[in-house]
Amino acid sequence: VNRSQREFDYFALSLQWPGTYCRGTRHCCSKNACCRGSNAPTQFTIHGLWPDYNDGSWPSCCYRSDFNEKEISTLMDGLDKYWPSLSCGSPSTCHGGKGSFWGHEWEKHGTCSSPVFHDEYNYFLATLNLYLKYNLTDVLYKAGYVASNSEKYPLGGIVTAIQNEYHITPEVQCKKDAIDEIRICFYKDFKLRDCVGSKELTSRKSCPKYVSLPEYTPLDGEGMV
Ligand code: 5GP
Ligand code: 5GP
Ligand code: 5GP
Repeated sequence: VNRSQREFDYFALSLQWPGTYCRGTRHCCSKNACCRGSNAPTQFTIHGLWPDYNDGSWPSCCYRSDFNEKEISTLMDGLDKYWPSLSCGSPSTCHGGKGSFWGHEWEKHGTCSSPVFHDEYNYFLATLNLYLKYNLTDVLYKAGYVASNSEKYPLGGIVTAIQNEYHITPEVQCKKDAIDEIRICFYKDFKLRDCVGSKELTSRKSCPKYVSLPEYTPLDGEGMV
């Protein structure tokens, strides 16, 4: 627990592309941990809402608040659909235990969102609302950037499509040439702002000039009707 960390500067809504994440882990561990079958998502899903600093670093694990799923039970439909875990593993919590994806995100990032959020319910509700308001899958789709295992798209075109729609610059991260995550950023009052882009130039997750949006690939013999 790092109570000494200073207040964050802005929020990044981090969205993951399941087609990329699921290339590595094609498991379906439970209804809420699915990379294949009818529950496999075909749109960007939520990774997290992250408090960040303007210098590219970020606070984490800001105070002890053990995740309690009961506090967000009324949000379950939305969370299952738009914030699924695509991994079978249990992520670590801030104090060395094992938890759920949601628990990990709340404890690591959510606790650092104070003074904007003080509890799980408001943190998860706001994240779902932002996700539903800013539909990146749709923005890319309208610009012709659709899931494909054969197409490569210019990274600049994808960034421009988002800039044209929202008038801000996102942060894009890749795994090899596949888009892994796109982040859009907000001031503390949830007005859109540019993300801090400088770190992506040096990141091992920086994207090449042409990128892909891989489609979820069924395992052999699965879903091949
Ligand atoms: P990775 O090393 O895979 O890029 O990131 C590992 C973890 O570090 C992420 O899941 C996330 O919790 C945290 N992280 C990575 N980049 C950022 C960032 O820009 N802001 C914040 N707040 N956390 C990040
Ligand atoms: P990477 O080398 O992948 O950028 O970072 C390795 C790990 O260090 C990440 O998984 C992330 O959790 C952590 N890390 C990097 N920068 C920061 C930071 O500014 N704040 C915090 N809390 N963790 C960081
Ligand atoms: P972060 O990268 O936010 O620090 O950590 C994410 C943690 O949650 C990792 O331990 C990862 O294995 C776990 N996890 C569970 N489900 C997912 C998922 O769908 N996407 C990502 N990125 N991580 C997940």
